[in-house]
Amino acid sequence: MDSLDLFRSFNHEQLVFSQDPSCGYFGIVAVHDTTLGPALGGTRLWNYARPEDAVIDALRLSRGMTYKSAVAKTGLGGGKSVIVGDSRKDKTPALMQAMGRFIDTLGGQYITAEDVGTGIDDLKQVRKATRFVTGLSREDGGSGNPSPYTALGCFVGIQAAAVEAWGSDALQGRVVAIQGPGSVGFPLGQHLVKAGAKLIVADVSQENLDRAVQELGAKAVPPQAIYDEPCDIFAPCALGGILNDETIPRLKCRIIGGAANNQLLDENRHAQALKDRDILYAPDYVINAGGIINVSLELEPGGYDETKAVAKIRNIFDALRSIFETAKRRNVTTHAAAQDVAEANLRAGAGGSRRAHEIHTTLRQSAG
Ligand code: NAD
Repeated sequence: MDSLDLFRSFNHEQLVFSQDPSCGYFGIVAVHDTTLGPALGGTRLWNYARPEDAVIDALRLSRGMTYKSAVAKTGLGGGKSVIVGDSRKDKTPALMQAMGRFIDTLGGQYITAEDVGTGIDDLKQVRKATRFVTGLSREDGGSGNPSPYTALGCFVGIQAAAVEAWGSDALQGRVVAIQGPGSVGFPLGQHLVKAGAKLIVADVSQENLDRAVQELGAKAVPPQAIYDEPCDIFAPCALGGILNDETIPRLKCRIIGGAANNQLLDENRHAQALKDRDILYAPDYVINAGGIINVSLELEPGGYDETKAVAKIRNIFDALRSIFETAKRRNVTTHAAAQDVAEANLRAGAGGSRRAHEIHTTLRQSAG
């Protein structure tokens, strides 16, 4: 399917391009759905082989954000932006400011945050050109690094899966294999160790691997071996597409629950393959919503409040319990059950425009 077919079949609202040759900027914003509020999703800076690949990525990721926010009830819609470039060579203040000017032209339909290839310092540059930015540092009035919150959401999501699989949320003595103990995988490991779990880890970064071994007492295995390790829970916290024809038959776990986006290579087929093997899959965009929930609190009247954020992130437990319950009752995959919840929440989402108005007021006030 090419990008225009995807645009039509995914029901996107807008796909917008912008360029500024003076600083080498070429960017895309995909606004998937604003039924529940303005479209929020990060800006990815990536060296795509072809512009078409960048467009397809923006379209897929923005739809994922719609579903993620719809299930997590953030009061936001789904969007994503990409900049075509190499984050090590091409990232300049001028480039990020060009992104900010582009976002500003959309008048608040799209609000950005950080993503692969962009960080808080880049958002500061974007902020110079638009107020439609979230995820700035605490000192700059934002909610800061989302990763520990994503990790907390994954932890309570794993507890919900444990209740479903074993009738108790206790993780004492359970073995968890974490693929990629990075910004999310490492704090997730900390929660798990505190709960009495034992860890197996794999990472292509020796530094991150060593940290997990030394600080979490984890057993390290080579990257390819993680799929074959006998464990209770597999927590993918590195890459997308890792649940596929090659890996699913190798897994020796009862539960899959981790932070990585787009874990299923072919959503429906591979969700079914996991169900057929009696492996309980916590849908990625439900279990990894802690970061977006945290950021969404910035847009509440009164601004960011960590206590409220943590309470809302803990709701991931109930959201997953209900998805597992529905999947069992209807004998469908947990992926299908999550899609149904997202779509039902979208259909019930009349009144989104009022919420959008409130958010714009909050951003205008915070802009001073
Ligand atoms: P990160 O880059 O900090 O950590 C990823 C880790 O995976 C790194 O240690 C990296 O070396 C390792 N890795 C990369 N390739 C690997 C491989 N082939 N095998 C084993 N390890 C490998 O990223 P992160 O912020 O922790 O995000 C992890 C995943 O979670 C990503 O897919 C991201 O999109 C998703 N996610 C992150 C957040 C967040 O708040 N950071 C929110 C939602 C989803």
